[in-house]
Amino acid sequence: MNPTEWFTEQHADAGSAFSLKIKQKLHEEQSEFQHLEIYETETFGNLMIIDGCTMVSTRDNFFYHEMMSHPALFTHPDPKRVWIIGGGDCGTLREVLKHPSVEQAVQIDIDERVTRLAEIYFPELCESNNDPRADLKFIDGIKWVKDAEPNSVDIIIVDSTDPVGPALGLFSEEFYRDCFACLSENGMVVQQSESPLYHMKLIGEMRDAMSNAGLSHLQTLFFPQCLYPSGWWSATIASKGDLSKFRESDSANKPFDTTYYNVDIHKAALAQPEFVKKAFNL
Ligand code: SAM
Repeated sequence: MNPTEWFTEQHADAGSAFSLKIKQKLHEEQSEFQHLEIYETETFGNLMIIDGCTMVSTRDNFFYHEMMSHPALFTHPDPKRVWIIGGGDCGTLREVLKHPSVEQAVQIDIDERVTRLAEIYFPELCESNNDPRADLKFIDGIKWVKDAEPNSVDIIIVDSTDPVGPALGLFSEEFYRDCFACLSENGMVVQQSESPLYHMKLIGEMRDAMSNAGLSHLQTLFFPQCLYPSGWWSATIASKGDLSKFRESDSANKPFDTTYYNVDIHKAALAQPEFVKKAFNL
């Protein structure tokens, strides 16, 4: 492969890589927190890279953004106050604001430059940023949650980078304890939990840490995401309350369009593969 024509992310531990053919590099900078690159690709639209890792493409981001938001929002009985920790590309925020019950959605990303670049190169993901219910803050999500008042949020969506650099603390038991303290009665955390094929140890550690922090009802959902390592991704919901049911009829009658999510996809995403059942004693 000619390195000038392809962007390649190597997944060193897994001995694999993912490449996209690029037309041109649109932008590159070192922000205060991370290295940011934007490419125009041949077939995936624009592509955002943070610290060498693929984050978002125009073509396939809908899988991730829809599955990070709708399953949790259709599981909570009445989600009004939602925080998105990370999520600077604003795609998750757009999905959350499709829910009429949501009165306030606060996005807390440590790096304002991610959002400023998304506004230029992924304008469709930012189309709800001016919704009066949206509030964009640019500070460390770990500190935001630590400083929060009890009972101040219904759902915390952790849409972060991988557990390295500024995102490392977002995968710790201490962080989940801080989440527990500020969540309302039926409150829940939903967090991107990496690849079930490559990162089962991490998913197990996350689930243990969430449970030890008091968020003892757990659900790991699976969905495709070809841009990310192995092409198969997960999100883990950790709740104070029962997760055995979701609002199926509200989901079936959702008053908005989606590209991937629907009630049957929601049910299918909850199915647990045999090796996962074995690993988590389900
Ligand atoms: N979909 C992506 C994935 O799974 O790879 C995540 C995309 S989103 C752009 C990740 C965001 O998390 C970045 O914008 C980064 O700035 C933000 N982030 C990392 N650590 C953070 C922290 N401690 N507080 C708030 N935001 C953080």
